[in-house]
Amino acid sequence: MGKVNRDEILNILNGYNKDEITIATLASHSSLHMLKGAQEEGFHTAVVCEKGREVPYQRFRVVDDFIMVDEFKDIVNDEVQDELRNMNSIVIPHGSFVAYAGLDRVENDFNVPMFGNRDILRWEAERDLERKLMVESGIRIPQKYGDPSDIDRTVMVKFPGARGGRGYFVASSTEEYHEKIDSMLKRNWIGEEDVALAHIEEYVSGCNYCIHYFYSALNDEVEVLGMDSRYESNIDGVCRIPAKDQLDVGLDPSYVITGNHPVVMRESLLPQVFDIGDKLVDGAKKLVPPGMNGPFCLQTLVNDDLEVIVFEMSARSDGGTNTFMDVSPYSYLLFGEFMSMGRRISREIKTGISEDNLDVIIT
Ligand code: AMP
Repeated sequence: MGKVNRDEILNILNGYNKDEITIATLASHSSLHMLKGAQEEGFHTAVVCEKGREVPYQRFRVVDDFIMVDEFKDIVNDEVQDELRNMNSIVIPHGSFVAYAGLDRVENDFNVPMFGNRDILRWEAERDLERKLMVESGIRIPQKYGDPSDIDRTVMVKFPGARGGRGYFVASSTEEYHEKIDSMLKRNWIGEEDVALAHIEEYVSGCNYCIHYFYSALNDEVEVLGMDSRYESNIDGVCRIPAKDQLDVGLDPSYVITGNHPVVMRESLLPQVFDIGDKLVDGAKKLVPPGMNGPFCLQTLVNDDLEVIVFEMSARSDGGTNTFMDVSPYSYLLFGEFMSMGRRISREIKTGISEDNLDVIIT
């Protein structure tokens, strides 16, 4: 299995009728505003939808054509790919698209033009690559501990895989780390293989801001389009219990995302916000050419020294963009009109079509 051939993708794109481009995605994650934004920019829209999941897309009237499949992962099937190409589709990736289609198949046999940089998706999915990109870009991230015996302050322990924030825990010493690991092993919450892959990092005590950037490869500019903060279960519920009762109820905190709040940051922090966005874009150009292209998100914690510390990155549209399906304070500042992340993507594609340089932004 070889990598998707860029020349083949460009050939497919050349064969498309540019007056009848369809913006397509998988019916999940942040697709509602991507499709709405595409409609606002005058595109035809299509969605690949698992049977039984179609109601929101019908009821919000954001889809012109449904491609129904038994399972989301069927988006990579040959017939579905044919159908997408027949509609002159440009596919917008998002977190669920990558999770269901599978990174290997997106890289190796999804022969449909996509918006963004296909190669960078692996860099956000694998913790070591993600860390390399952030370190080499020179942005402040939590300190990593190679060995539990080195723990010298409060740390957060994370496990790999698609378990979200389930099972993450906080420990303040090597002993506490081992106690909690042993108790989780006994309860079969984790296995020895998870322990070997446990990621230990400095616990940052601060407020959460997830910053939604858009890098316009056509204008060579980093835009800040919105910010959200996470609503996580059960940690946000536990915080509503008075401290003395928290000890009695004995709940183990988890960090499973259930929703997002829109948020704005103290204005004096915005220079740091632009600085880290610019640095990441520069770093990505060197490490994963051509680099960022379109939406990316930096999940940060701001401590009381007013440092913006990045603990996670997405190199595509993040679910928190759903907090501005219409407009955010920041996208309003820049555009003065309704501008969701989805609409911004479609506007970039529209510009690519009118300036005849779609090849710069399609992968
Ligand atoms: P993640 O799976 O890395 O997105 O983390 C899930 C949640 O855990 C975040 O939204 C934060 O609430 C929390 N978190 C992650 N990393 C840290 C950290 N280094 N310090 C404090 N809290 C963290």
